[in-house]
Amino acid sequence: MRRLREDLWLLELGWHEPFGSNAFLIDDAIDPETGERTAGDLTLVDTGYRWNRRSLASEIAAAGYEADEIDRILLTHYDLDHTGGLHSISIDCPVYLGATEIKLAEGDHQPPLAHHKGLFHRAARTLFPLPESIDLHSVTDEQWIGRFEAFATPGHNPGHMVYVHESGVAFLGDLVWETDGELTTPFWGDSYDMRQVRESVKSLAQRCPPFEIACMGHGSPFTENGFDHLQRLADQL
Ligand SMILES: [Zn+2]
Repeated sequence: MRRLREDLWLLELGWHEPFGSNAFLIDDAIDPETGERTAGDLTLVDTGYRWNRRSLASEIAAAGYEADEIDRILLTHYDLDHTGGLHSISIDCPVYLGATEIKLAEGDHQPPLAHHKGLFHRAARTLFPLPESIDLHSVTDEQWIGRFEAFATPGHNPGHMVYVHESGVAFLGDLVWETDGELTTPFWGDSYDMRQVRESVKSLAQRCPPFEIACMGHGSPFTENGFDHLQRLADQL
């Protein structure tokens, strides 16, 4: 666990680096500048694997919370290093996931058989389905969920979503990764359509509000000038 701001924590999940997988907690009840407490929602963004080097519950506890205090879970996409943790804690709050990702997970969207990740997802959704008991809500482009705006950013997965919190924090999932202090596009072998990834990066840089903190699914978050990093990558593509 690493505290990134008064109200924001990085949960260090996954396996040993470079196979780490990030999740984040953000507490709207805390003033990000003064740390004073008022009222507001506690949101978990992504959940890591089902089995991590440190458990999701222990990372949540290290931030000072318990799983049953979470008011909502936002998922950037349906991959096992982001949704597996849904099986590791008891969940009684709404869970949000891109509409196409829900179809992908539930078998209503058929990924291409000829594509390596399509084959993988066809197996994964049978072997590792989403928990049946969760209160799942579908998300579409530019939808507001509390203080977050969702942006459809397909490519890594067909229904990948980025969530931007109005206090200036972007949860970028696997649209981009951090490597050597810069943002990069994800590895092609782990993505459906790299051309679409590049288009999504450019489109997000044009239409999302500026943000200071950039939180990625993999690599180290940027606690300042987050939007500049995204803009620089978009200019290179
Ligand atoms: Zn990932």
